[in-house]
Amino acid sequence: MATHSTSIPAKPDLVIIGAGVVGLWCALKASRQGLSAVVVEKGRIGQGASGGILGALMPHRPSGWTDTKAFQLAALLSLETEVTHLEAATGLSCGYARCGRVMPIGSQPNLIEHARWQAGSQAAWPAASPSGTAVSWNILRDAPDPAWPALKPGSVAYSSDTLSARINPRKLLAALAAAIQPEVVIAENSEVTSIFDNAEVVLTDGTRLAPGRVVVAAGHESFGLLQPVLQRQLGWGVKGQAVLLRPRCRSFDGMPIIYHRGTYVIAHEDGMVAVGSTSQRNFTSPDVDEAVSQDLVQRAVELCPGLADADIVEQWAGVRPRAAGRDPILGTLPDASRIIVASGGFKITLGIAHRMADAALAFATGAPSELPDGFAVQQHALATV
Ligand SMILES: Cc1cc2nc3c(=O)[nH]c(=O)nc-3n(C[C@H](O)[C@H](O)[C@H](O)COP(=O)(O)OP(=O)(O)OC[C@H]3O[C@@H](n4cnc5c(N)ncnc54)[C@H](O)[C@@H]3O)c2cc1C
Repeated sequence: MATHSTSIPAKPDLVIIGAGVVGLWCALKASRQGLSAVVVEKGRIGQGASGGILGALMPHRPSGWTDTKAFQLAALLSLETEVTHLEAATGLSCGYARCGRVMPIGSQPNLIEHARWQAGSQAAWPAASPSGTAVSWNILRDAPDPAWPALKPGSVAYSSDTLSARINPRKLLAALAAAIQPEVVIAENSEVTSIFDNAEVVLTDGTRLAPGRVVVAAGHESFGLLQPVLQRQLGWGVKGQAVLLRPRCRSFDGMPIIYHRGTYVIAHEDGMVAVGSTSQRNFTSPDVDEAVSQDLVQRAVELCPGLADADIVEQWAGVRPRAAGRDPILGTLPDASRIIVASGGFKITLGIAHRMADAALAFATGAPSELPDGFAVQQHALATV
């Protein structure tokens, strides 16, 4: 239910703009630290990119190791425990499973590349996850299941890792929202129209909030919100589409994610299979394009013929935040240290949002945090949009 703006505390420790996965993790971490927080959401919870259907949690390629890749690896490993605590606290499932991933390898040169990643994983990854599950990257001659993925003509081998996991984005958001309320006010249908250097924000109806700090977690709309303060754009939105299928012949629950040339196929715990995704920087409409959905389904059926007679349950489109530098943006504004930006995670945000929240809270409380240099606002301000 929407909170009327007159019932929003005017001077909380923290105003968090956006009830997506980043904003809600920030709110949970804030409430655990005893801070008063208000989440201001212009629509409803999960209205942005986080309210989608895919939920792949896949590691970066383990070669050319960087501190950004190390940040993501640590986040993927710690998410398992975070989700366990969240589910225990709320009694709600997030649809999380460390299901692993399989990638068909189409040629000998690709095989050499995958072998390099396998070697990289041995150097960079731990042997086991915090819960004790083995973590490894393997090259397989045959597909692990003849139907998932189908043995593709021309495939020379398969890469398989046991680090990748899946989560149900909507269930995650529901659990986060349940965990923070009523301590944290989530003001839905309340849009922030302006942010000032001193962290004050103004809502559409003229309400002014004067928090100690403001966290801008408004997804791709963070960039437009911050433009007047920074006098420059820190990133842009990239449209993507996905389709949710209900297979008729059998359940694929427990099967690994399949990833092949930008196509993901993800079996969820409720028997649904999500298929994605596309990337479109220039788009005229953020809505679903049916032709794009059909193409996604066709690509999924080529990988998994068992999906051929599946029913389409939902077609979905969203706009991801893509920061100007390649990394997410995490930090305070150079000349307005009470404004904290936590956005731009692009295609990996669901797996790192809890760690983005830890960092945002460290900025808010003055606690130390070690982040890759590329995350700093200044780095993104230097990059070309
Ligand atoms: C098709 C597709 C597939 C994807 N698949 C995956 C995947 O498998 N794995 C993965 O990790 N990531 C995936 N992503 C990326 C991921 O969904 C996003 O990066 C992530 O959800 C961004 O979260 P966020 O909280 O930063 O932004 P959002 O979820 O967009 O949340 C921002 C919120 O801020 C609100 N808001 C905006 N402006 C204002 C304002 N002025 N005042 C108040 N509220 C405001 C919006 O309404 C929105 O609810 C996918 C994205 C797409 C589009």
